[in-house]
Amino acid sequence: MPELPEVETVVRTLEFLIGGLKITDIDIHYMPIVSGDIDAFRQSLINKRFTGFSRRGKYALYTVEDVILMVHLRMEGRFYVRDERNPTDKHTHAVFHLDNGRFLHYHDVRKFGRLEIVRPDQISRRLSTLGIEPFDPQMSGYTLKKLASSRQIGLKTFLLDQRFVCGIGNIYADEICFCARLHPESPVSKISLKRFNEVADCIKMVMSQAIADGGTTIRSYTSSLGVSGRFQLRLNVHMRKGEPCHVCGDPIIKTRVSGRGTYVCLRCQKRIKD
Ligand SMILES: [Zn+2]
Repeated sequence: MPELPEVETVVRTLEFLIGGLKITDIDIHYMPIVSGDIDAFRQSLINKRFTGFSRRGKYALYTVEDVILMVHLRMEGRFYVRDERNPTDKHTHAVFHLDNGRFLHYHDVRKFGRLEIVRPDQISRRLSTLGIEPFDPQMSGYTLKKLASSRQIGLKTFLLDQRFVCGIGNIYADEICFCARLHPESPVSKISLKRFNEVADCIKMVMSQAIADGGTTIRSYTSSLGVSGRFQLRLNVHMRKGEPCHVCGDPIIKTRVSGRGTYVCLRCQKRIKD
């Protein structure tokens, strides 16, 4: 599943490939992929140019002159820029015709992704449930401690909850817990300010390294735009069950936290007690 670094990579790559281009037509092959009315969606975009590219949490935000095309890729959504208009398989649900003669394909095997038009003055309300961005100047141990106070949840569950910090998914939550040397089930209400300062530093470090690497390319997510992520080469725990910890040599174990496969080094990652 694409997390913040993968969405950031898609947004930056598309800015390079289609920035400034005009949409001349749109084919929708699977109607529910668009949130809201299809005709209104097409009318909002056709004959307008891609003028801005940004991201909030795991949402890609493409400014198309006076509207924002908001995309959540969910599990398997991906974009391709192709010379051919016609989809090569049944998983291409939308095709944007561009004025340079090429086509932007939206491809989604699981069909969980959504394309939606949002007016710029409504975007902050539309995304109001999203928590703090990892690179927000407010991201600090103090902010995390405040968000975590009196919550009866573990650290990984806290990191995955988009209402507290947005953009972190399963891969990076595991890596951030390892970086902070904390067991993923450590109750957040018992984590000290000093420890949360380390967690905040790890959030910034892990996410910025992953963006610099173009994200992580493992089975559930591969970038479609000719950019392969390289962060999988830096993973310390995620998907490394049974392999030796890079720090202490103990085998990484796999467990489940909030129903998600979770990887941990029991020697390096301290479990703070209730
Ligand atoms: Zn270790």
